[in-house]
Amino acid sequence: MVYDVAIIGAGVTGAMTARELSRYELSVCVIEKESDVAMGASKANSGIVHAGFDAKSGTLKARFNVEGSLMMEKITKELGVKYKRNGSMVLAFREEERDVLLELYERGIRNGVGGLEIINGERIRELEENVSDKALYALHAKTGAIVCPYELTIAAMGHAMDNGVELFLESRVLDISCDNGAFEVETTKGTIKARYIINAAGLYADKISRMVGDDSFEITPRKGEYLLLDKELCGLVGHTIFKVPTKMGKGVLVSPTVDGNILLGPTSEDIYDKEDTQTTRVGIEKIINSAAECVKNIPFGSVITSFTGLRATTKNGDFLITAPKPNFLNLAGIDSPGLTAAPAIAVHVSNMLKDMGLELVEKKDYTSTRKIYQVEKSRYNKMVCRCEKVSEGKIIEAIHTNPKAITVDAIKRRTRSGMGRCQGGFCMPSVVSILARELGIDVCEVRKSGGDSRIVVGKKE
Ligand SMILES: Cc1cc2nc3c(=O)[nH]c(=O)nc-3n(C[C@H](O)[C@H](O)[C@H](O)COP(=O)(O)OP(=O)(O)OC[C@H]3O[C@@H](n4cnc5c(N)ncnc54)[C@H](O)[C@@H]3O)c2cc1C
Repeated sequence: MVYDVAIIGAGVTGAMTARELSRYELSVCVIEKESDVAMGASKANSGIVHAGFDAKSGTLKARFNVEGSLMMEKITKELGVKYKRNGSMVLAFREEERDVLLELYERGIRNGVGGLEIINGERIRELEENVSDKALYALHAKTGAIVCPYELTIAAMGHAMDNGVELFLESRVLDISCDNGAFEVETTKGTIKARYIINAAGLYADKISRMVGDDSFEITPRKGEYLLLDKELCGLVGHTIFKVPTKMGKGVLVSPTVDGNILLGPTSEDIYDKEDTQTTRVGIEKIINSAAECVKNIPFGSVITSFTGLRATTKNGDFLITAPKPNFLNLAGIDSPGLTAAPAIAVHVSNMLKDMGLELVEKKDYTSTRKIYQVEKSRYNKMVCRCEKVSEGKIIEAIHTNPKAITVDAIKRRTRSGMGRCQGGFCMPSVVSILARELGIDVCEVRKSGGDSRIVVGKKE
């Protein structure tokens, strides 16, 4: 078969685009090299729905940030994922930094952001009692919000699949050729044919674009390390707290997550290795020092995990949304605020495809909500993960609801089992058994993540 559209990459950009295209009478597939969706930048970021004052006016980043931020509350409601409009503050610690706040304020107004105000130290501490006494002013953005980035991506892809989109996991794109007006995408699991291709391959978007003869850009990974604090710290801050930005970005933030943890990070360092997601001592020290400047008495002993995300950056600094070849679209350089912008980018892409000649006829049987797999009620009485209070029922749901979880980590991202204080020490054996039973495989075949990451290496006779 020849698909109308093949999307390469199942991050938030690919997932939101797939969901948008699933409204129409089109055959659409998503090709992903990993064992699950949201395995790139979309799994490891700050989860902030940025208000939109940071991006330079007139850029695609500014436009899609503001549009995406306005769309996010409705979309998260439709998808049934958590969203909290907690607001954000950019702190200034010196008198001269007030000018930077003013600049951000004016830029925000130009970009079309509502609910911005500059507040003084007294007002800062009225709103946030744990913010440093040294903070003199803040840009307060009431429209700033938080989401769980992988929950959003999983739900968007699931909704797209409920409306007919096909997802091919563990299918790395190796090459692309064009034959008789259709593309032939060679993957590790065979060839997929499509009339239109959307390249949403994140860090590897440059490599995919080169496959069709476009070598006009390169992606450089920019590393961002994080620390995550236990839920007992919930309430330490309510807003997302930033310092004034530097040329490397928005800097280290202190923010609540929608699940009740406190997130510290990210660092910002250009690197060469697109697979380097190690956390480092230097990075962690930077986070601790910077976070401690903004918020008082952070109990760093309550860190439960650390992780790293890699931003896909290009030289010009803006999103690169181009059509270097007929019927081939690049969604490249989608670094921050790409999570916020994704729903707006998706609408823009469908308009671009229409302009390229793709007929968009609305589906009559489009379902506006997700289809959640129905599990026997009694299964919700059995607690599997004590830290995050996840029942067996929720785990079974995750295994059978689109996009189906096939690994332990995929279950973790859908249910939070293993994300609490003990980090899976207690629940992992039960999760492995449930996965084996529901997938009809031997426990020795259950994998932690992709590849050959089997957990049980043998059984005692
Ligand atoms: C540290 C950090 C903090 C951030 N904070 C925020 C924030 O708070 N708010 C915000 O709005 N944005 C934020 N962002 C930006 C946001 O995370 C990204 O813009 C967004 O996740 C990009 O999504 P994507 O789908 O384009 O890329 P990705 O999520 O990286 O997805 C690309 C996918 O393509 C797949 N792929 C690659 N090559 C191939 C191939 N050959 N074959 C098949 N599949 C392939 C990958 O496996 C991957 O799944 C942050 C990013 C980082 C790294």
